[in-house]
Amino acid sequence: MRKPIVVGNWKLNGALADNESLVLGMLDGMPQLEGIDVAVCPPFVFVPQVARLADSTALGVGAQNCSEHDNGAFTGEVAASMVADVGARYVILGHSERRAMYGETDEIVSAKVKAALAAGLTPILCVGETLEEREADETEAVVRRQLAAVISGNGIQAFDRIVIAYEPVWAIGTGRTASPEQAQDVHAFIRGQLADHDAGIAQSVRIQYGGSMKPGNAADLLAQPDIDGGLIGGASLKAEDFLGICRAA
Ligand code: 13P
Repeated sequence: MRKPIVVGNWKLNGALADNESLVLGMLDGMPQLEGIDVAVCPPFVFVPQVARLADSTALGVGAQNCSEHDNGAFTGEVAASMVADVGARYVILGHSERRAMYGETDEIVSAKVKAALAAGLTPILCVGETLEEREADETEAVVRRQLAAVISGNGIQAFDRIVIAYEPVWAIGTGRTASPEQAQDVHAFIRGQLADHDAGIAQSVRIQYGGSMKPGNAADLLAQPDIDGGLIGGASLKAEDFLGICRAA
């Protein structure tokens, strides 16, 4: 049985005072949650603050990105070891916004996964197709390619320590979710891709759905056999909405 995992991706949102009330609101509802991993991923600069607020609680903390490099002349970058050092346990990698807006290729994402694993972080590896790709019937080819790069760069065993997030780009921030059946089909496909390498890993890897997940649609998505949690954008900025999704998991 896979333990569900729900993670909030705050994206480029937050401020010291707002973060505090948001995290305290989430912590209020955490004791009622059992048998689920929950974490939030604020912007880098707020990771230490949120880690302090969540210290000794069941709420985990992550970053939204890290460098593929360990240290050196890379102005503006943040290493995986630094993220771990200030209290993060997770790091979102290969988010479609980073792939599309910051030129992250499959190879860069794979190198970032390597750096994150070396630092002891749990990578949340995002994969997913654009609307154009879905309409061209390329969903499986895109997801296969995105996974293959990380498998070839890190080996299948690395997926013992990786969480996958399937995020159809057309469902992100659009209010348009994949139907439970559409999401389930791709989740099963992802598991199948891993099973071609290692059946045990395929069974144990957790695959989150991301894209306009809300309290109102979470239960139907999470009821699907291969959907093991959610990666939540907009709805993770309100404690009650985020907790509502966690309760559905
Ligand atoms: P929304 O939940 O705002 O659609 O964002 C999803 C997402 O991109 C999470 O990483």
